[in-house]
Amino acid sequence: MTHPDSHTGEDTCPLCGQANGCAVTAGEDPYSCWCMTARIPQALRDRVPAERLGKACICRDCLEAYRKENGSH
Ligand SMILES: [Zn+2]
Repeated sequence: MTHPDSHTGEDTCPLCGQANGCAVTAGEDPYSCWCMTARIPQALRDRVPAERLGKACICRDCLEAYRKENGSH
């Protein structure tokens, strides 16, 4: 599942609270954002609180941490 719905301007990661580095919050083209090309695993999306799901991007650190927990793929 892609997540263009994530681009509503929330600038912190819903999982760790750090800046998520989303291009939208920097005033850049949403389609230039790294998160548009990254695949966020459903299991990781499931960890996002419901009220922030579809609003806030998960940050790279959390995605990397998840990948390490679950192997390289
Ligand atoms: Zn994070």
